[in-house]
Amino acid sequence: MTSQRTRNRLVQRLREAGVSNEQVLSVIASTPRHVFIDEALAHRAYEDTALPIGYGQTISQPYTVARMTEILLGDQQRLGRVLEVGTGCGYQAAVLSPLVDRLFSVERIEPLFSRARNRLSELEYRNIHCSLSDGSWGLPEKGPFDGIIVAAAPEQVPSALQEQLVDGGRMVIPVGGEQQKLTLITRDGDTFVTEILEDVLFVPFLSGIQR
Ligand code: SAH
Repeated sequence: MTSQRTRNRLVQRLREAGVSNEQVLSVIASTPRHVFIDEALAHRAYEDTALPIGYGQTISQPYTVARMTEILLGDQQRLGRVLEVGTGCGYQAAVLSPLVDRLFSVERIEPLFSRARNRLSELEYRNIHCSLSDGSWGLPEKGPFDGIIVAAAPEQVPSALQEQLVDGGRMVIPVGGEQQKLTLITRDGDTFVTEILEDVLFVPFLSGIQR
């Protein structure tokens, strides 16, 4: 159920769906998605589907995690400082960890934040720094960032987030209400170049902290 063979089958599916970055596929093959979800759902961990993680939130579909990671990397092998908005259960953070120097991940729902932080620390992901924070403001004290990845969909790109990109930095973010588009924003000096990539379905980007 959670064997290497099952994980390899998932990787094959992602390849067929168009994920082509071998480095990303190999991280997906070695990351235990089943430990990030409830035991009752663990048998479905290597299906290419989103699953509930409590508090009305979901663990993203593996295709989406892999695709967003390869878009974030672009033609780089590795990124320096990266910000993730929406830690959720921590799976996307775990996938990013070996591909970046330092990952700062923020979550607005307290119980999800503490659970993900404990889990990532037990699994010895040492370059991930979790905080309980509303990602609308980014994380100015830790930026600027080479990359920003957002796991919830705002109606519009929060300007504080794009301002925290380094020159040449990339942000991958779903944008929209019922109709969401995965969007890549690349900073070129004071200009933010926007590319619309594909249709996606994410939970809404909300403001404030929930305890
Ligand atoms: N990265 C997760 C996806 C979790 S779902 C994974 O690996 O599967 C998206 C998460 O974004 C939810 O946990 C939600 O609470 C969080 N979120 C939504 N708006 C946010 C905001 N403004 N700041 C921080 N987290 C936010």
